[in-house]
Amino acid sequence: MAVPSKLLQKLARRLFQQAPEQAQFIEALVRPQPLPSAILWSRPRPPQLPWSLLPPLPWQPAWVDRLEPGSQPGQHPLHDAGHVYCLDVSSVFAASVIAAITEPRPTVLDLCAAPGGKSLYAWLALQPQRLFCNEVIRKRGRILIANLKRCGAKEALVFNLDPEYFAQQLPQTMDLVLVDAPCSGQSLLAKGSKALGCFHPVTVNKNANRQKRILANAAQTVAPGGYLAYMTCTYSPEENEQVCDWLQQRFPQFQPVPVPHLQPYQSSLSEQPCYRLWPQSGLGAGAFTALFRNTAAAAPFPLAPQFIDHHGRGLR
Ligand code: SAM
Repeated sequence: MAVPSKLLQKLARRLFQQAPEQAQFIEALVRPQPLPSAILWSRPRPPQLPWSLLPPLPWQPAWVDRLEPGSQPGQHPLHDAGHVYCLDVSSVFAASVIAAITEPRPTVLDLCAAPGGKSLYAWLALQPQRLFCNEVIRKRGRILIANLKRCGAKEALVFNLDPEYFAQQLPQTMDLVLVDAPCSGQSLLAKGSKALGCFHPVTVNKNANRQKRILANAAQTVAPGGYLAYMTCTYSPEENEQVCDWLQQRFPQFQPVPVPHLQPYQSSLSEQPCYRLWPQSGLGAGAFTALFRNTAAAAPFPLAPQFIDHHGRGLR
C-alpha cells in the first residue's frame, strides 16, 4: 500500500492533532520498516547467544530479549528445543500491564489464547497455580497446545469454548482474565502484511462489538479483587478507549488500574489509565492495553465449582 487510503487519513486525523504526527503514523503504515522482534525465554538463557540484542526497555522483563530486525529466532534450534517463544515487541508492551499486579495470582484465564504469547507471558510473570488457556477456533487451539508444550508450560489446561461458558459455569473465580481481543488488525500494515478493509467502519464496529461481548463474559468470570487485562493490536478508538468506556459503564465495579511503567505511553484519547504503543515509535507494530480491577465485594455464596466438557456442558 503506497498511497494512504481516505479512511487511513481520516483515522490519523482523529488519533493525532498535529499534522507531523499524522504524517508519521501514516508513513509507518504505508511504508513499513523492518521492526525488532522479541523472544521470551521459557528455559534458562544460554551463556552465549546467537543473536545481537537491543538495549532493554523499561517495561521489558528479565526473561525477554529484543533482537535486531531480521534475526529470525524462530528458525534457530533453540526455538524447536522450547527455549524461546517469538513474538512482536508490541505484544510484550501490551502484556506488561501484568507487572502492575503485585499480589499472587494463582488462577489465570487467557480467553483468547492462540497462538499462546500472552499465556506464556503470564505463566512466566506470575507463575500461576492454574493457567487456563482458551481458544475458540479449534485449529488455532492445536497451535496453542503445541506452543505451550514446546515451552514447558505443563500446568496449562487448554479449552475450546465460547467465553460465555466461563461466565456461566465459572463465575467470579479467576484472579486474572486476559482478553487479547480479536480486532480489525490495523497493525498488520506496520508489519508489511495485508489487512483488507481494516479501516472500514463496518469492520471496526463488528470487532468492537465482538470485543464487548468477550469482555462482558470475561468480567463475569473475574473474582472479587481480581483483574481483567484488555488489549488489542489495532488503532481505532472504537475498539480501544471506547470499549474501555463501555466496560466501565456496563460493569462499574471494574476500575482502571494505573500502570506506572507505562505512564509515558498514556493514551491521549482517554482520561483513564490506558496505554498505546504507536507504529511510528519503531519499537513494534503498535498495541493498546489497559488493566482493570474488580472492586466488588466477595459474593456471599460462591457457586460450587463445576467442570465443563468440550461441548461446554456443565458436569456435576
Ligand atoms: N493472545 C494471543 C497471543 O498472544 O498469542 C493472540 C490472540 S489473537 C489477538 C485473538 C484470538 O481471539 C484469536 O486466536 C481468535 O481466534 C480468538 N477469537 C476470535 N473470535 C473470538 C471470540 N468470539 N471469542 C474469543 N476469542 C475469539
